Amino acid sequence: MDSQSYNQPVADGSLIACLHCDLVQRLPELEPGASARCPRCNKELWRRRADSLNRTLALTLGAVLLYIIANTVPMLGLTIVGRDASTTVIGGAMHLWDNEQKLVGVLVLFTAVIAPALEIGLMLLIVLGAMRARPPRWVGTLLRYHPTTRIWSMIEVMMVGVLVALVKIADYATVIPGMALFVLWVLVFVLAAMSANFDSRQVWDRVRWADEARRDEAYKLAEEMS
Ligand SMILES: [Zn+2]
Repeated sequence: MDSQSYNQPVADGSLIACLHCDLVQRLPELEPGASARCPRCNKELWRRRADSLNRTLALTLGAVLLYIIANTVPMLGLTIVGRDASTTVIGGAMHLWDNEQKLVGVLVLFTAVIAPALEIGLMLLIVLGAMRARPPRWVGTLLRYHPTTRIWSMIEVMMVGVLVALVKIADYATVIPGMALFVLWVLVFVLAAMSANFDSRQVWDRVRWADEARRDEAYKLAEEMS
């Protein structure tokens, strides 16, 4: 058997291996909003989202706007013995760096500023690329790295931390919650909605292959079989 006989794409786009138990099965045609479950482990295999690309694009654009606002307006204001001070998210991270809390400062900057920016930016590029008739290959590359940016994006963790700190320092100082604090809470939910509406399978189905000849072969085979 030469190497050509295996490592061949299967000429059936509806075949899928369950992510949880590896059972290979055929996906049925689904109505928007409907989902398919694995008959062996009963986990959801795929849910078809209604109007996925347009909704994801709208939510991503909303997230861009909220992100810009959240990082330009003050997050917290403090009044201690008559002295006022206010800071933005980035300002807070820099403050930590200056006060011998370098590691915490870097972590805040990375998980609350850089990773969310990557999460939103990559999603915008993926959706815009996927809207083309044949999404170029870089869409697939970004699609593979996008989950990593989501893992490191931890605005909600920072928000809980800020709330704990607010309660603790309320005895010593007057704390004025800034606009960014409210905008960030909205952003947390918009980001969740953005991920929930995105359907990666729909994009993978149309993306340009690394080996386009193989794709054409597989599609020709599928046509002959049907
Ligand atoms: Zn399964």
